[in-house]
Amino acid sequence: MKRLIQLALVTVVCLAAYRLTGKESTAELRWYKGNLHTHSLWSDGNDYPEMITDWYKNQGYHFLALSDHNLLSRGDKWMDVALANKRGDIGGLARYRERFGDGWVELRDQDGKQQVRLKPLDEFRGRFEESGKFLMIQAEEITDKFEKLPVHINAHNLREAIRPQGGASVRETIANNIAAVEAQSQSLGRPILAHLNHPNFNWGVTAEDLAYVTGERFFEVYNGHPGVNHLGDAKRVGTERLWDIANTIRLGVLQSPPLYGLGTDDSHNYFGDRGSSPGRGWVMVHCDQLSPDSLIEAMKRGEFYASSGVTLTSVQYSPSSKQLKVVIDPVPGVQYTTNFVATIPPDSMKLPLASDSFNRAADWIGKVVKSVSGHEAEYQLQGRELYVRAVVTANIPPVNPSFKGQRQQAWTQPVGWHATAK
Ligand SMILES: [Zn+2]
Ligand SMILES: [Zn+2]
Repeated sequence: MKRLIQLALVTVVCLAAYRLTGKESTAELRWYKGNLHTHSLWSDGNDYPEMITDWYKNQGYHFLALSDHNLLSRGDKWMDVALANKRGDIGGLARYRERFGDGWVELRDQDGKQQVRLKPLDEFRGRFEESGKFLMIQAEEITDKFEKLPVHINAHNLREAIRPQGGASVRETIANNIAAVEAQSQSLGRPILAHLNHPNFNWGVTAEDLAYVTGERFFEVYNGHPGVNHLGDAKRVGTERLWDIANTIRLGVLQSPPLYGLGTDDSHNYFGDRGSSPGRGWVMVHCDQLSPDSLIEAMKRGEFYASSGVTLTSVQYSPSSKQLKVVIDPVPGVQYTTNFVATIPPDSMKLPLASDSFNRAADWIGKVVKSVSGHEAEYQLQGRELYVRAVVTANIPPVNPSFKGQRQQAWTQPVGWHATAK
C-alpha cells in the first residue's frame, strides 16, 4: 500500500512538472501578464516610478519589475526638477503632481534649485499592489560589460543590489553575474530569476556565449527597445535565430537544458511614442498565484510565453503523446500563422554532436517544420527533434512597433527536449 501511495505521488509530481495548460485540466491556473524590464528616473528612464507603475496597472498588467541600472530604489534620492523635466517632458512634474497630489509629491529648494524626491519602491508599492491583481517585483538591471561589449542581466526578486561582477571574457562575465544572483538566492532561500538582456545590443553576446554559460536559463527573445538589433544585420543573426543556434548547442552538444525566451519592454521613455516606450513586449505566465515565488517557479518550468501582441488561450505539450498544441485568443478580423520551429540533426549525425561538426548556418537548425493558418495549431514530434517551439505571427503590426515591418507575435518555449537533457 505504501508503495502504491508512493507511486501515486510520483505520478502526481510528474504530471505537475509537465502540467497541461489547457482550460479543462487547470481550473486553478491562469495567465498573468507582466513586464520584467523597466527603467525610471532612478536611473536613465524619464518618468517617476509611480507614474510608470500606474500606467502598467491601468493597461491590465498583473506584475511589474522596475529594473534600474545597478541599483535598488531605496533611501533618500532627490533630483533637480529641471533635469527630470529635461529628460522627459517639460510638463513631467506637473503631470506627476496632478495624478498623485501635493500631499504625495515631495519638493524642496536646494541652493536655489527646485528638487523632487524619487520615492523608493517600499514607499509606493502599497498604493498599487492588490492581492491577485497587481504585484511589484523588486529588480535590478545588473549592467556589466566585457571591454566594450555590454553584458546586462536582470535579476528579479532580489533583496540586495548586486554590483556588476566583471570577468575575463563575455562568457565569464555572464557566469560571474549569474553566480552572484544564485549566491543571493541560496542565502535568502528564495527564488531569484536572472535573465540575460538584449544579446544583440551593441552585438555584446553571441549565440555561442549564450549557449556555453549553461547556468543562464533565460534571455530576451524580444526586447522593445528600438536599438537592440532584433533582426540582426547582414553579418549577424537576429535574436530568434540566435536562440535556435544557442539551443542547438545546448541540447545537441552540451546535453544541457535550453534557454527560455522572454518578451520585455526595456522602457525608458514615457512621453508619447518616441524612443523606448512601454507596452511593446511582455510575458504571460501560467501559474496558480500572483506571487514572486509562484511566477518564478512557473517560468523555471517553462510555463510562460513571450508576446509582442498575440494572446494565446493555451499552450499544451504532452510528453507521452509528444504533441505541442497552441490555441490563439483571436482578435476579430486578424489572421494568424503558427510556425513550429525545430532543430532536427541529419540522420548521419550522432548525438551528442561534436561542437565542430556542424555549421551554425545549417538549415536544419531552427527550421520551420510545419506552418498552420488559423486559431489552433498542433505539431506531432517525430523523435529526432532536439526541441520544438511555436511562434505565432499576426498579419497586423503592434500599436507602436519597435522596428520596421514588425508584426504582432507570440513565442512559446522549447519542448520535447527532456530526453536529451535534464
Ligand atoms: Zn540593458
Ligand atoms: Zn534596460
